[in-house]
Amino acid sequence: MDLNSLHRKELVEKLQSAGIKDKEVLKAIGRVKRELFVKDEFKKYSYDNIALPLNSNQTISQPFTVAFMTELLEIKPDDKVLEVGTGSGYQSAILKELGAKVYSIERIKELYNSSKEKLFKLGYNVNLKNDDGTKGWIENAPFDKIIVTAGSPRIPKQLLDQLSIGGRMVIPVGDEVTQKLLLVKKIQSEDEKDKEPKYKFKTYEDFKFVPLIGEEGWTISN
Ligand code: SAH
Repeated sequence: MDLNSLHRKELVEKLQSAGIKDKEVLKAIGRVKRELFVKDEFKKYSYDNIALPLNSNQTISQPFTVAFMTELLEIKPDDKVLEVGTGSGYQSAILKELGAKVYSIERIKELYNSSKEKLFKLGYNVNLKNDDGTKGWIENAPFDKIIVTAGSPRIPKQLLDQLSIGGRMVIPVGDEVTQKLLLVKKIQSEDEKDKEPKYKFKTYEDFKFVPLIGEEGWTISN
């Protein structure tokens, strides 16, 4: 066994003792080579449970956060999943390992280009778009699951609209420093088809993401 696969195995054990239970999620983390999504100078930290810098001042999320969000989504094979914030492409690869159809949007051209090349090279067939993901991806909506991997001041209305009935969304909401992770479930019973759908929320404290910048996110320009 090479050193990276040994470290990957140790990371999976760490995530398991940190409370991740979903066996399929753990298996996916155990299969994806995180070192391929990390910049050369940080490769030695690939299997530490920490976020790491990407280009353009962005970060690849902490493995625990990736595992936790993915577990909350309850991905089933063939689920149609929208990711907002492709970043390195690592989260997309995890979703592909779980058998999902993945649509991922990244607003920074440089990151869009590099994740596109990487995911293609690794054989992950992900639909990518260089745009503001707070608007969703209307041509491919509705989505069974939506994962937002950047921190937002609110839940973008267009993302709620593009979530399927019975669908789940995870999104960090808060200020620019810390956020709560929200799990949103969209509900509409058969006899209420003519009414607006309902939403159920669960919150998980204390996460830290880079800002979601766009029409329905923060308005910082860079
Ligand atoms: N899921 C990524 C995490 C990347 S960090 C991974 O696995 O590596 C979050 C990313 O969201 C950054 O790359 C940032 O540029 C991007 N982002 C921020 N606002 C966005 C928006 N409105 N639309 C799309 N991407 C956005």
